[in-house]
Amino acid sequence: STFPGDDSGDLNPRQTPGKLYSKAVPTPVEKVTLLAWSGELAAELGITKPEEQQELDILGGNHVTEAMYPYAACYAGHQFGSWAGQLGDGRAITLGEWQTPDAKTVELQLKGAGPTAYSRRADGRAVLRSSVREYLMSEAMHYLGIPTTRALSLVATGEPVLRDMFYNGNAAYEPGAIMMRVAPSFLRFGNFELLNARKEHEHLRQLVDWTIARYYPHIQGEDKVITWFKEVVERTASLMVEWQRVGFVHGVMNTDNMSILGLTIDYGPYSFLDDYDPDFTPNTTDLPGRRYAFGKQPSIAYWNLGCLAAALLPLVEKEQLLPALESYKEVYWRKYYSMMGNKLGLDKLKSGDTDLISQFENTLASIKPDMTIFFQLLIDLPLYMGSAAEVAAYFKESLYEDLTEEQNAQLYTLITAYLERLNKNTIKRQASQDLMRKTNPRFILRNYLLHQAIEGLEKGETASFEKLQQALKDPYSNKYDEFFETRPGWATQKAGCSM
Ligand code: AMP
Ligand code: MG
Ligand code: MG
Repeated sequence: STFPGDDSGDLNPRQTPGKLYSKAVPTPVEKVTLLAWSGELAAELGITKPEEQQELDILGGNHVTEAMYPYAACYAGHQFGSWAGQLGDGRAITLGEWQTPDAKTVELQLKGAGPTAYSRRADGRAVLRSSVREYLMSEAMHYLGIPTTRALSLVATGEPVLRDMFYNGNAAYEPGAIMMRVAPSFLRFGNFELLNARKEHEHLRQLVDWTIARYYPHIQGEDKVITWFKEVVERTASLMVEWQRVGFVHGVMNTDNMSILGLTIDYGPYSFLDDYDPDFTPNTTDLPGRRYAFGKQPSIAYWNLGCLAAALLPLVEKEQLLPALESYKEVYWRKYYSMMGNKLGLDKLKSGDTDLISQFENTLASIKPDMTIFFQLLIDLPLYMGSAAEVAAYFKESLYEDLTEEQNAQLYTLITAYLERLNKNTIKRQASQDLMRKTNPRFILRNYLLHQAIEGLEKGETASFEKLQQALKDPYSNKYDEFFETRPGWATQKAGCSM
């Protein structure tokens, strides 16, 4: 790398002024055993499945080859709306870059391979529970067609990891695990914020130039920094629309968890919505503020882009940055309405359609049906609905609670308006339904399913885990309808703990 780094290999937590990264050697574990391997991703990358123990050891940090230069990146960020200062890869270690057969370059990174200079007071380790959650969910997002970091492998370490259960005050040992994740880059908004905060303007310029040359090579010329920022704004807006499409709640949208490439990054306490609730946050540390609730994600992304814009002030005039930042709103709403039009099977947006979309949002927020099941039922909606009772009966499968009379009337009004609108479609019913099937997932990785798979794995039973691993590859089909049901009564829509 041409960037200033700290090569000392000193793993003691500390501030590293003037450095963009620190050497970080993985700390060996007891025994590396393979729990999961993403075969299709491996094939794309041109990596063969490890068979020998020495190869497996690479996936657990027990073997570092001569070609590798393991390091931890230094970044900063705004956490829950406040400046947090220097952060950095506290439990992630990049082993190096890998050239794919089609000449793309990706970073290979271990998560949970031991402490780095940025671990602060924590241990640099990951438990099986959080690793399985990230492994499965990042792959699920990929197959949903949503930009994301990927997961190549998951290994057990044979070592217990001590975790404080902040929700019940107990500390307990849990099995440790290490995941290998893959992305063109793990750079975050926070990498840029750090350099601005430290007034390292020359490093800031170097990092921005490098990011553009490397990941946005189509952007050139004198105005390239502002043009690049506009593209980051656009990619971030697109990502938010995609999260809203499938009901994904990230849960920790701090600026250190915002990818500069517009990828979904850092899977912690995330959750899909079961019942449609714009106020739902899966993060127990996000209560009672609900900063990272489902319905707030688009505006939080805008706020985070504001932090990135502020970090770029030494490089670009404020008069240029502000309108570029403001363009977020126009881009977001344009993409959002277009996505919602697809979700509803509309041929194209006509006047009045944004009102209909708002009516859908309000009605869903009021009756809180299961989001996934509701939209699946909508695909096959009979084109004539004679009464409110008929509508209620049709959507019953998606409901967590019986409708009040008022809610039933609201739903009937909505469905009547929707059927009228469908009637004006210039495309055939079949084409409209195909569009809906492509836009609305039928299988989602629900929290309680993850929970069951993790419980199984902790007992050495792999069947549930493997089933989910299969199902997430085909989220728009009806092949896995054994999972097509509302969240069972014993599970609540609650936090998916991330530690
Ligand atoms: P997150 O909320 O997951 O984005 O984490 C915030 C910061 O805490 C990041 O810089 C992480 O690297 C760090 N961190 C989280 N968990 C650990 C851990 N177990 N050991 C060391 N650092 C951690
Ligand atoms: Mg993070
Ligand atoms: Mg994390």
